[in-house]
Amino acid sequence: MSEFQYEVQKINDTAFMVSEGFTTMFVLAGETQTLLIDCGLGVGDFQALVKTLAGDAPVTLAATHAHVDHIGGRGQFDEMAISAPEAALIRTCGASQRRRWLRRKQLTEHVSKEIRIRDEKKEPRVRIIKEGDTFDLGGGRVVEVMETPGHTKGSLSFYDRQQKILYAGDTVSSYLFLWLPHTATVEATLQSFYRMRSLDFELIWPCHHRRPFDRARFDGLVETLEQLAQKKNTRLPLVKKFVRNGNRVFYRTSLVREKN
Ligand SMILES: [Zn+2]
Repeated sequence: MSEFQYEVQKINDTAFMVSEGFTTMFVLAGETQTLLIDCGLGVGDFQALVKTLAGDAPVTLAATHAHVDHIGGRGQFDEMAISAPEAALIRTCGASQRRRWLRRKQLTEHVSKEIRIRDEKKEPRVRIIKEGDTFDLGGGRVVEVMETPGHTKGSLSFYDRQQKILYAGDTVSSYLFLWLPHTATVEATLQSFYRMRSLDFELIWPCHHRRPFDRARFDGLVETLEQLAQKKNTRLPLVKKFVRNGNRVFYRTSLVREKN
């Protein structure tokens, strides 16, 4: 079978979006260090691709959160940096979960049946990272770690201050999932959005749908959540869809806020 071909989009000379077709990851090629944000489900030779994009600088892998389509490819790396709450969930992203996830996509979203997960057995060392930690990529380019609960409670975002780009994982999306296990309240997600909005950014890159948010589009998402946050919690935890400004938020009616 031929090797899986990633789709690569150049954000600029030293930042690349890499897509598996369903999930997106990022390669930040610094002068002295390459930072990878997420590693996808793990269906291709990501390590080889990183070399062709970023050369031979040492590579550091950091994860936005422990969902199988974001850390499934970790077996190609020696170490993975992740938040403490997400590190506790890595075991839920093993080979069988990866295969199940891919099969579901193939059945429901016309993902090619030719695609197979790569079965690396290696489990990388875990390095815990938290708010305020940084990755120095050289040449004055420093990427800052932000704790941005939302899609999951332990979700991290990565802020490249020099390039004014925020990489926000699944916490920012026009198709926002706030209903899965380990999700934060709508209110807590909104607080993450306010912190993001206060940054000097030009683009926020989500990990799905291959299209960045500029400030106007992000403001629309903030407003969507502000309106949703007006609701009261229900006793029964139903999953509902809330639609505003072209955004869809799937949330648990019992998890709008901590307490009514
Ligand atoms: Zn996710």
